Amino acid sequence: MKMDLSQLPTPCYVVDQALIERNLEILKGVMDRTGAKILLAQKAFSMYVMYPLLGGSLAGATASGLYEARLGYEEMAVPLRRQGKACENHVYAPAFKEQEFEELLRYCDHMVFNSWRQVEKFGERAKAAGKSIGLRINPECSTQAEHAIYDPCAPGSRLGMTLENFENGGKKELLDGLHFHTLCEQNSDDLEKTLDAVEERFGKYLPEMKWINFGGGHHITRDGYDIPRLERCIRRMQEKYGLTVYLEPGEAVALNAGFLVTTVLETLHNGKDIAILDTSAACHMPDVLEMPYRPPLKGSGQPGEKAYTFLLGGPTCLAGDVIGEYSFERPLKEGDRLVFEDMAIYSMVKNNTFNGMCLPAIALREKDGGCRLIKQFGYRDFRDRLS
Ligand SMILES: *Cc1c(COP(=O)(O)O)cnc(C)c1O
Repeated sequence: MKMDLSQLPTPCYVVDQALIERNLEILKGVMDRTGAKILLAQKAFSMYVMYPLLGGSLAGATASGLYEARLGYEEMAVPLRRQGKACENHVYAPAFKEQEFEELLRYCDHMVFNSWRQVEKFGERAKAAGKSIGLRINPECSTQAEHAIYDPCAPGSRLGMTLENFENGGKKELLDGLHFHTLCEQNSDDLEKTLDAVEERFGKYLPEMKWINFGGGHHITRDGYDIPRLERCIRRMQEKYGLTVYLEPGEAVALNAGFLVTTVLETLHNGKDIAILDTSAACHMPDVLEMPYRPPLKGSGQPGEKAYTFLLGGPTCLAGDVIGEYSFERPLKEGDRLVFEDMAIYSMVKNNTFNGMCLPAIALREKDGGCRLIKQFGYRDFRDRLS
């Protein structure tokens, strides 16, 4: 049944197909012009009803472990291959588990290891099964300071081999490729700096490789992203070393392509106007607290910009379950609907039922503007995780 946005139950994530397709067109443009292969990093967006669409434009998916690898295989690779389309399924993990490795071999065609010890444990088996294998390197080049928890180049990082560890390590002849992932919501100037560091440190090994994976964190679909510079970076690796270039953005695939619709439950006043919503920052948009950031809200302004400023908070008992301050032309009242923007990425995949909160429903807004409810959650989704 098709519904209007205003008829959806709340809270509800709404993913907009036209906006996803707009992102895919940008990403496909990069692939078509350069020959690079772009994969969906499922960590950011795993709404698998969209996988046939995503896989139709992208080169495949990448996973951070067994379950994502299986999801990418079953929901993207298998259906696309059945239609005769190529679709790659990659996996990287900081450490693989012995009990899971045989199953992973069934799902994945590229496997990226985090250390020489991992290559020693699993590399020969992966090669014998016909997999392309790589090692994650740490180019020790931090390009952003705002989000320290997203900096895999920080001192003490467990992610990837530094040059020193790489050179003291194992069987380089086993490797088909090198992988780095150091960016987070960044532009291609930071990619360029990172590539300089990769070449300076690891350049002498690149001619022996078949591919290089630039990881994720490329905000390719954001307004103002410098795509020509990205394409120069890709061509530099292709032309200088004959490498196939992979990129595995998560955010960029579903950036600004989803909403979280919520209803105002109550308003109150304590030194300022406050509204309690039926959605929680802690449960339904955890990055608002973790990253932290202030999510865009349709039709609102900065605090004080419009006539009525409200502090928006969630229905949990956590004092800090606060989304932020926003201003409106009219005072908020019970039953008003609000629409948070850019809620497709890192929201659905990270939500939780803390404090007995129900998970938001999931809807797809199709290209005719009608919304189709994909999934609703209930008491059992809360209960069944707890005993
Ligand atoms: C998180 C991650 C990605 C995707 O990052 P985005 O910031 O969502 O683009 C890609 N590769 C690896 C190894 C990651 O850890």
